[in-house]
Amino acid sequence: ASLPFVFVLVEPSHPGNIGSAARALKTMGFARLRVVAPALLGALAHPDAVAFASGAVDVLEHGQVFDSLEAALADVSLAVGLSARTREFAPPLVDAAQACALARDEVAGRAGARVAFVFGTERIGLTIEQAQRCHRLAQIDAEPAYSSLNLAQAVQIVAYELRRALGRIGTTALDAEHPDYASHADIEQFFAHFREACIAVEFIDPEHPKKLFERMRRLFARTRL
Ligand code: SAH
Repeated sequence: ASLPFVFVLVEPSHPGNIGSAARALKTMGFARLRVVAPALLGALAHPDAVAFASGAVDVLEHGQVFDSLEAALADVSLAVGLSARTREFAPPLVDAAQACALARDEVAGRAGARVAFVFGTERIGLTIEQAQRCHRLAQIDAEPAYSSLNLAQAVQIVAYELRRALGRIGTTALDAEHPDYASHADIEQFFAHFREACIAVEFIDPEHPKKLFERMRRLFARTRL
C-alpha cells in the first residue's frame, strides 16, 4: 500500500537528514525516497546518512538520485510541496492532514497514480519555481514566529499523517471514480507548447512575458489536467 507514495528531498545539504528521513519513512511503513541533486556525491551511502538511518538502511539503499526535480516528478500524478512559507503564485495551500487525504484519494482505485511529497533544502526551502512544479503547497501547522522544522522532522510528520489518512480509507474513497490525470511530463510538454504558441501568435513578447506563465501554471495546477 505504501508504493504509490514517494518522498522527494530537493538538494539536501546534510547526509544525516537523508538518513533521518529514511528512518522516518520506514517507521511509518513507507519506503520510497528520492533525492534531487544532493550537495554531496554518494550522499545516500555517506556514513552520516547510514548512521542516522539506523534500521532503515534498506530505504537508503533503494533510494533514487535525480539530477532535477523535473526528472524526479516525471512519473508522478500528484505533487505536494512542503513549505513553511507561502508566496505569490504558489499553488493552493493545504495543511498536512488535508494533503494526506488528497494523496489517499488520488491513489484509491487507480493503479497508475503516484503521489510525491516534495521537501525543500535545509537553508532556503523550496524555491518559487520548485513550488510551482507542485499541485498543492502543504504547511505543517507551527508557531508563526519560528515555523521552520528540521527537514527530517517535517518528513516524519507528513509520513505520520499519511499513515493515519491511509488507515481511514473508507468505501467512499475506494469506490470513487477518478479520471486519468495527466502526468507531470505531459503537463510540462503542454506548458512548453503553450509558451511557443503564445510567442508564435505574438500574444506575448518573449523578452517581457510579465507574469503570464506563472499565472497559467497556477491556474492549471488548480484544475488538475
Ligand atoms: N529555511 C527554510 C526551511 C527549510 S526546512 C524556509 O524558511 O523555508 C526544510 C524543509 O522542511 C522545507 O523546505 C519544507 O519542505 C519542510 N518544512 C519545514 N518546516 C515546515 C512547515 N512548518 N511546514 C511545511 N514544511 C516544512
